[in-house]
Amino acid sequence: MKRKMYALIVCLLVLLTACNQETTDSDGLENKKSDTVTEATSQVEYEMPNDLIRSDSTVIDDSKTKSIITSQESYQIGTYIKISIYADKEVPSSLFDELFYTIDQYEKKISTSILSSEISAVNKSAGIEPVVVSDGLWELLQKGISYGQVSQGKFDITIEPLVELWGIGSDHARIPSEEEIQKAIALIDYKQVVFDEADHSVFLPDEGMGIDLGAIAKGFIADELKEIIIARGYEHAIINLGGNVLTVGHKPNSDTWSVGVRDPQGGQTDILGVLYLKDNSIVSSGVYERFFEEEGVRYHHILNPFTGYPEQNHLQAISIISEKSIDGDGLSTSLFVMGLNDGYTYASTRDDIEVLFITDDNKIYYTEGLKDIFMLTSTLYEEVGRYVE
Ligand code: AMP
Ligand code: MG
Repeated sequence: MKRKMYALIVCLLVLLTACNQETTDSDGLENKKSDTVTEATSQVEYEMPNDLIRSDSTVIDDSKTKSIITSQESYQIGTYIKISIYADKEVPSSLFDELFYTIDQYEKKISTSILSSEISAVNKSAGIEPVVVSDGLWELLQKGISYGQVSQGKFDITIEPLVELWGIGSDHARIPSEEEIQKAIALIDYKQVVFDEADHSVFLPDEGMGIDLGAIAKGFIADELKEIIIARGYEHAIINLGGNVLTVGHKPNSDTWSVGVRDPQGGQTDILGVLYLKDNSIVSSGVYERFFEEEGVRYHHILNPFTGYPEQNHLQAISIISEKSIDGDGLSTSLFVMGLNDGYTYASTRDDIEVLFITDDNKIYYTEGLKDIFMLTSTLYEEVGRYVE
């Protein structure tokens, strides 16, 4: 409440002192919807979280693209974030304030590890009562359900009890007992979620059920950031949310963006190849992201809701190239669990996405559209291209 009042007062002051600026609503997220696209000189002050880890601007005068690249980095939603905007002059830090503030606001709505988040409220009310959610979360939940349908339940937003049980990436990661696994998977079924369109409420009918949006949150947020950047009048940018990369337009000199495809067997900065993209998103899911090992077996964070175990289907990683990052994120997790055969078959039915699969025998398969825009750079891998059953 206090936060809203504060934002409202700031907003009113700004409105009074500068009539040619865009306005913001109480949580700052409506800015992007404004029809009046002004130069990015938003002087709206965002109430930045005290614990935000964030850099100052790095400004590079880039002769190749004949532009000024302004970048800032942060650590949010459990991941490293870097946003670079290419323009004819330095981008004001206030735009990065807006972007990082937006990420923070969404994190506070959709993170299961924040007890006061909207999604935690939905989960705590499982078996008790429906909870009304904000528009952004409603939209994200609907998207989440749609990937459940695409993958026939291999992607399931109600996977939270299983995610919590394994605790992969947390300090309580362990191999659960068979009994615990059976109990958790009995609670997973996205079809049971009751959505009430009238009041945008969400109800999980059984106690113990829970929603986890970890598989789509980054993609969703990346799309929102892109909208803000465009609404502020910028046409060339690259948004990197921990490896979810979303490009805005092309480079100012018309070049494509070169985006590295992570080597699943290498370190965080090792790549196996490069994709040349324009105005596209690339999102990867892989066994290297979060895992623990016990007795030589790797237990990673992409779980099969039917078996209750990390998916073991001879894939090391998969990347989706799509227009919207939410689709890339949702489909990268979905197609990873579906596997090479079903995943490739599904991808071939969609002309709006391209997919690259890396199998555990170090072969790279991809859909037709990547033939001319993917370049293998590692000698460890073999480029096969089209997958034939
Ligand atoms: P990503 O890295 O985008 O593939 O997402 C992995 C994250 O999604 C995990 O850390 C879990 O929070 C969640 N998750 C794991 N398995 C599934 C699944 N089968 N369906 C939906 N979400 C999942
Ligand atoms: Mg995903």
